[in-house]
Amino acid sequence: MSQITNNIIGVRQRLELAALAAHREPEDIQLLAVSKTFPARAIEEAMHAGQTAFGENYVQEAVEKIVQLAKLRPWLEWHFIGPLQSNKTREVAEHFDWVHSVDRLKIAERLSAQRGEFPDLGGLQLCIQINVSEEDSKSGLSPSQAEELCNAIAKLPHLILRGIMAIPAPNPDVETQRKAFGLVRECFLQIQMKHLHDVGYEFFDTLSMGMSDDMEAAIAEGSTMIRVGTAIFGKRDKINV
Ligand SMILES: *Cc1c(COP(=O)(O)O)cnc(C)c1O
Repeated sequence: MSQITNNIIGVRQRLELAALAAHREPEDIQLLAVSKTFPARAIEEAMHAGQTAFGENYVQEAVEKIVQLAKLRPWLEWHFIGPLQSNKTREVAEHFDWVHSVDRLKIAERLSAQRGEFPDLGGLQLCIQINVSEEDSKSGLSPSQAEELCNAIAKLPHLILRGIMAIPAPNPDVETQRKAFGLVRECFLQIQMKHLHDVGYEFFDTLSMGMSDDMEAAIAEGSTMIRVGTAIFGKRDKINV
């Protein structure tokens, strides 16, 4: 059995145990395999282990792999999870199924207009990224700015507002991890409750949080999509990725 297959089995077991501990159904938590810096061949290996949703951070690198794996495109779901500059929105609108990292209306407007040029693709699934750690290095909105952005995005035609994404500052202490994820959940639930019956919020169901080192805490706090890289593909070579 390949290392990647082994790792996926291990991560799925962690997901299930964490779900059971939180009295949740494992099926309610999706596993996104973060394949940044790893080659198309690694993604194919993960596919053989039944993994179909993949996350990428860098537009250029991602599009190369998406093109290399074009034959498998119907079975794959591509998620853009990295910082997004306005000069890269077109490629995201053209190649991806989801984007998790939108923190400005201008970016959302561009994505909507550009997605509209590909009517066969349907709406681009979108999470806004919020910031819950008092740390300037990570992009993202404050919870109070989040609702305003969601309301504006809900009106855009070629986007499907799905929920909220966050990357809390890494911390080895599980209680600290849970506190940060709890704040994200609170923000998510407040917006969800308030707009339950509003147009544009029909699919607002996604709480994208939790990575290799904090997925259990994220699941305990209600995550519906964990984004796991290292625990599946191994350590990345480059620094700051
Ligand atoms: C790299 C990355 C991940 C995966 O992180 P690991 O610690 O390798 O699991 C998840 N989410 C985002 C936004 C990332 O950039």
